[in-house]
Amino acid sequence: MNPVVILEVHLDTGTARLRRLPEARAALGGSGLAATLFSQYARPTEAWDHPDQPIIFAIGPLTGYFPLMSKTVCAFVSPRHGGYAESHAGGRSALALRFAGLDALVLVGRAPRPSVVHVGAHHVSVQDAGYLWGMDALSCAKLIRRQLSGSGHRSIWRIGVAGERKSPMACINVDTFRHFGRLGCGAALGAKNIKAVAVTGEDHQPLPTGKKYAALYADIFRDLTDTEMMHKYHNLGTPENLEPLDALQALPWRNLQATSNPEAIGTMSGQHFADTALLRNAACAGCPVGCVHIGFVREKFLPQDNRYLYRQVSYDYEPIFALGTMLDVRVPTEVLALLDDVEKAGLDAMSAGVALAWATEAMERGIITEAHTGLHLAFGATHAYREAIARMAEARQEFWAHLAQGADAAAQVYGGADFACVLGQEMAGYATGETFFVSQALGLRHSHLDTGAYSYDQANPPKDTAAAVRFLVEDEAERVLLTSMVACLFARKVYTRERLAECLAAIGQEDLAGELAATARTLQARRWQQRLAFGFDPMAVSIPRRFTEVVTWRGPMDTHYLAELQQAYARAIQALAAETPA
Ligand code: SF4
Repeated sequence: MNPVVILEVHLDTGTARLRRLPEARAALGGSGLAATLFSQYARPTEAWDHPDQPIIFAIGPLTGYFPLMSKTVCAFVSPRHGGYAESHAGGRSALALRFAGLDALVLVGRAPRPSVVHVGAHHVSVQDAGYLWGMDALSCAKLIRRQLSGSGHRSIWRIGVAGERKSPMACINVDTFRHFGRLGCGAALGAKNIKAVAVTGEDHQPLPTGKKYAALYADIFRDLTDTEMMHKYHNLGTPENLEPLDALQALPWRNLQATSNPEAIGTMSGQHFADTALLRNAACAGCPVGCVHIGFVREKFLPQDNRYLYRQVSYDYEPIFALGTMLDVRVPTEVLALLDDVEKAGLDAMSAGVALAWATEAMERGIITEAHTGLHLAFGATHAYREAIARMAEARQEFWAHLAQGADAAAQVYGGADFACVLGQEMAGYATGETFFVSQALGLRHSHLDTGAYSYDQANPPKDTAAAVRFLVEDEAERVLLTSMVACLFARKVYTRERLAECLAAIGQEDLAGELAATARTLQARRWQQRLAFGFDPMAVSIPRRFTEVVTWRGPMDTHYLAELQQAYARAIQALAAETPA
């Protein structure tokens, strides 16, 4: 069994230490390895921004050997809830770590001044970078790219102003179009005075010889490219979901005041985005699918002349929901302009859009006024939203500083908690029903990716609490296995458990291959143990009233079933966390 190689960087002294952990192979990699390392480094009794709290970046055992093993898992203490959090990103991040010879990078301490961490196969440094502080996330990446010489897989992770201001909505921008998006990992990096982490993978990795590995690789590649399984992701991409969800009355509009808008969906469909704004497709390193859809924003250099600047912006279902339908912005190029703004500010697009939707409804209701905001917010008012994004990222006035802490945090100050669309963090774009609302409210990452609850709701199952909880627990275990391998979840139908076992065996990790079901359950429990160790009480979670008012194609929410399911899933989480010792 190969050891896991971990680079521990002490930001306060600029020193580093390599660790090799044979026993950590039991944690596979990704989520499992991150949770295992987190249990060793993190301090449950300290605040989220205490210098000793770690930020961990972990890849998996199959990275570099098989396609779409492309994610890096970032584990940190969330400013949102003060506990264990994960955010996952692709781009070139995973291959850069692999070719730097690392399975995980752990940052501890706090740099005395704004700095950049540079890690490679043969070097590590923490360099002063005060000149980057205050710079937007796109310009920052450009500058670092110019400064880094040499070849190899290079990946640059950096924060914008939102991360510097420690907003729980701050993300880490990864390479050109990917993000560690949710739960405030950008703030965790900012709290360490780190503007950017640059990884240069200049080493190589020998591949297994013999026919077995080559044949398996060819099979997987064929499934990813020649079959229907991945077709939708390349074609219109996830925006293809906009129309069917609207038809099901499951697409949030105007701060979830509506779940369908038949008059407007035509201009917000995946097809309309492709027809009017799509420039090209892109892909994470080593991925033959290319699901990343790149649109363009056109802006004048100067208001008074007729010279234009074109900027490329990636789009997906989730950001379109958050900065489009949730704000009732119905023009693709305007949605892309808002996306470009959050990209530069280093804000998570989903949280920013949902928080602005709350602020807009709060203004409509007179809970807040222009005296608070300095702006007139109204649904569909793109120009005001563009200014609002800048103010929120910079926490420029008292109101925007409160909103930058989250819609629920602002509602505690101004009122309006009933219509703050927050389920652990600002909601993802699925008003599909009770199972999804419970899954995001209680899920470990408070993410639509914790489980496939949005699909479960759409299958319209009978209201059976035990069956729904069984689904949530079992589906989470399968996803933990995939995220511990750092597989892109879009490939979940290709990378079945059996296929993963074959992959591990093909690279000489037969001992791991035989134990995947038990390992998945262990890792699922270990993550929950970390979440509960910092004080998370699943029984104390509350779901705002707005979610109980939702009407979908199945009719109004069943509030009795919602409450029953919430309690039952909370008990299941407690049982999971109690399964094995931490
Ligand atoms: S399918 Fe998309 S997200 Fe997944 S690895 Fe490929 S390009 Fe990246």
